[in-house]
Amino acid sequence: MSKFWSPIVSRLTPYTPGEQPKISKLVKLNTNENPYGPSPKAIAAMAQEIGDNLRLYPNPDAEPLKLAIAKRHGLSPSQVFVGNGSDEVLAHAFQALLKHGAPILFPDITYSFYPTYASLYEVEYRAVPLAEDFTIRVDDYLGQGEAIGGIIFPNPNAPTGCLLALDEVERLLAGNPDRVVIVDEAYIDFGGDSAIDLVTRHPNLLVVQTLSKSRSLAGLRVGFAVGHADLISALERVKNSFNSYPLDRIAIAGATAAMEDDAHFDRTRNAVIASRSKLADELASLGFEVLPSAANFVFARHPQHDAAGLAASLRGDGIIVRHFTSARINQFLRITVGTDEACGALTDSLRKHLA
Ligand code: PMP
Repeated sequence: MSKFWSPIVSRLTPYTPGEQPKISKLVKLNTNENPYGPSPKAIAAMAQEIGDNLRLYPNPDAEPLKLAIAKRHGLSPSQVFVGNGSDEVLAHAFQALLKHGAPILFPDITYSFYPTYASLYEVEYRAVPLAEDFTIRVDDYLGQGEAIGGIIFPNPNAPTGCLLALDEVERLLAGNPDRVVIVDEAYIDFGGDSAIDLVTRHPNLLVVQTLSKSRSLAGLRVGFAVGHADLISALERVKNSFNSYPLDRIAIAGATAAMEDDAHFDRTRNAVIASRSKLADELASLGFEVLPSAANFVFARHPQHDAAGLAASLRGDGIIVRHFTSARINQFLRITVGTDEACGALTDSLRKHLA
């Protein structure tokens, strides 16, 4: 800290990202990356873009990508916003849509970037407790009018993996017509129904998705939001006041091809879903309580074994998982669904340490 820092920066507790280890032979099950590679068509499109084209600025509206996303969901490109990872899309949304001088609501166990953005952009918030079974209780969010600045939650939630059914999402939207509701669907492709289908009926809905997980492009940093054109133009205003080029040429080419490759998308996400089910069964047979997951990770605790100790033992065997320190979830491990081989290495190591 120094006297040159602004008061906001001095007060800020930055988001702590999951570890990106330097040792490559670790079994890395800690940051919810896809164990399979991206679409070969995306790799080819990116390779083609590398060359003399990089001399030129990219398309300032990332038009080909917006078109591909709009086409996939039967929308118009004016209903699509793109950014450098969904983290950046969410950051712009906090400024453009959630800052109204009233507290916003999000679940008390949720993506830990939300409180960070709230303090960075000076948006007050109220964290709403989850139910005993770790699900979101929609009734706690209803009828708030303009007394709140908006609502944001991940669906499936992170780090629990629990899904809120689409009719419940719609009840939450209908109960808050005066404020924007942001549904952060980073993991939706692994088992839930997307709220994108509700965008046309609910002008207060912004759905945010990412190509980091189900499209296996975490390293490319591409995310997007879909909503009424009025919401999208608010995001564009903030973005244009920050950086007039949302994505580089390589990202536009790769992300567009990835969005168009349905066959690769279906094959890899189905493989992850099948491995998740095997992993959850194996963990249950080792005595873990495993929350029902609609994501590419599972959240599990062992009634007799300390989670920090288990995470350390796994690490000793070259396997990394995520462990959180906040009170209600500090006995859980969040384990990314890897290949069956990686999940097998994890359960073998746990079996040894639980014995
Ligand atoms: N939302 C949630 C709930 C997440 O877990 C993540 C991944 N850390 C993100 C958004 C951001 O993903 P990305 O910036 O890679 O698109």
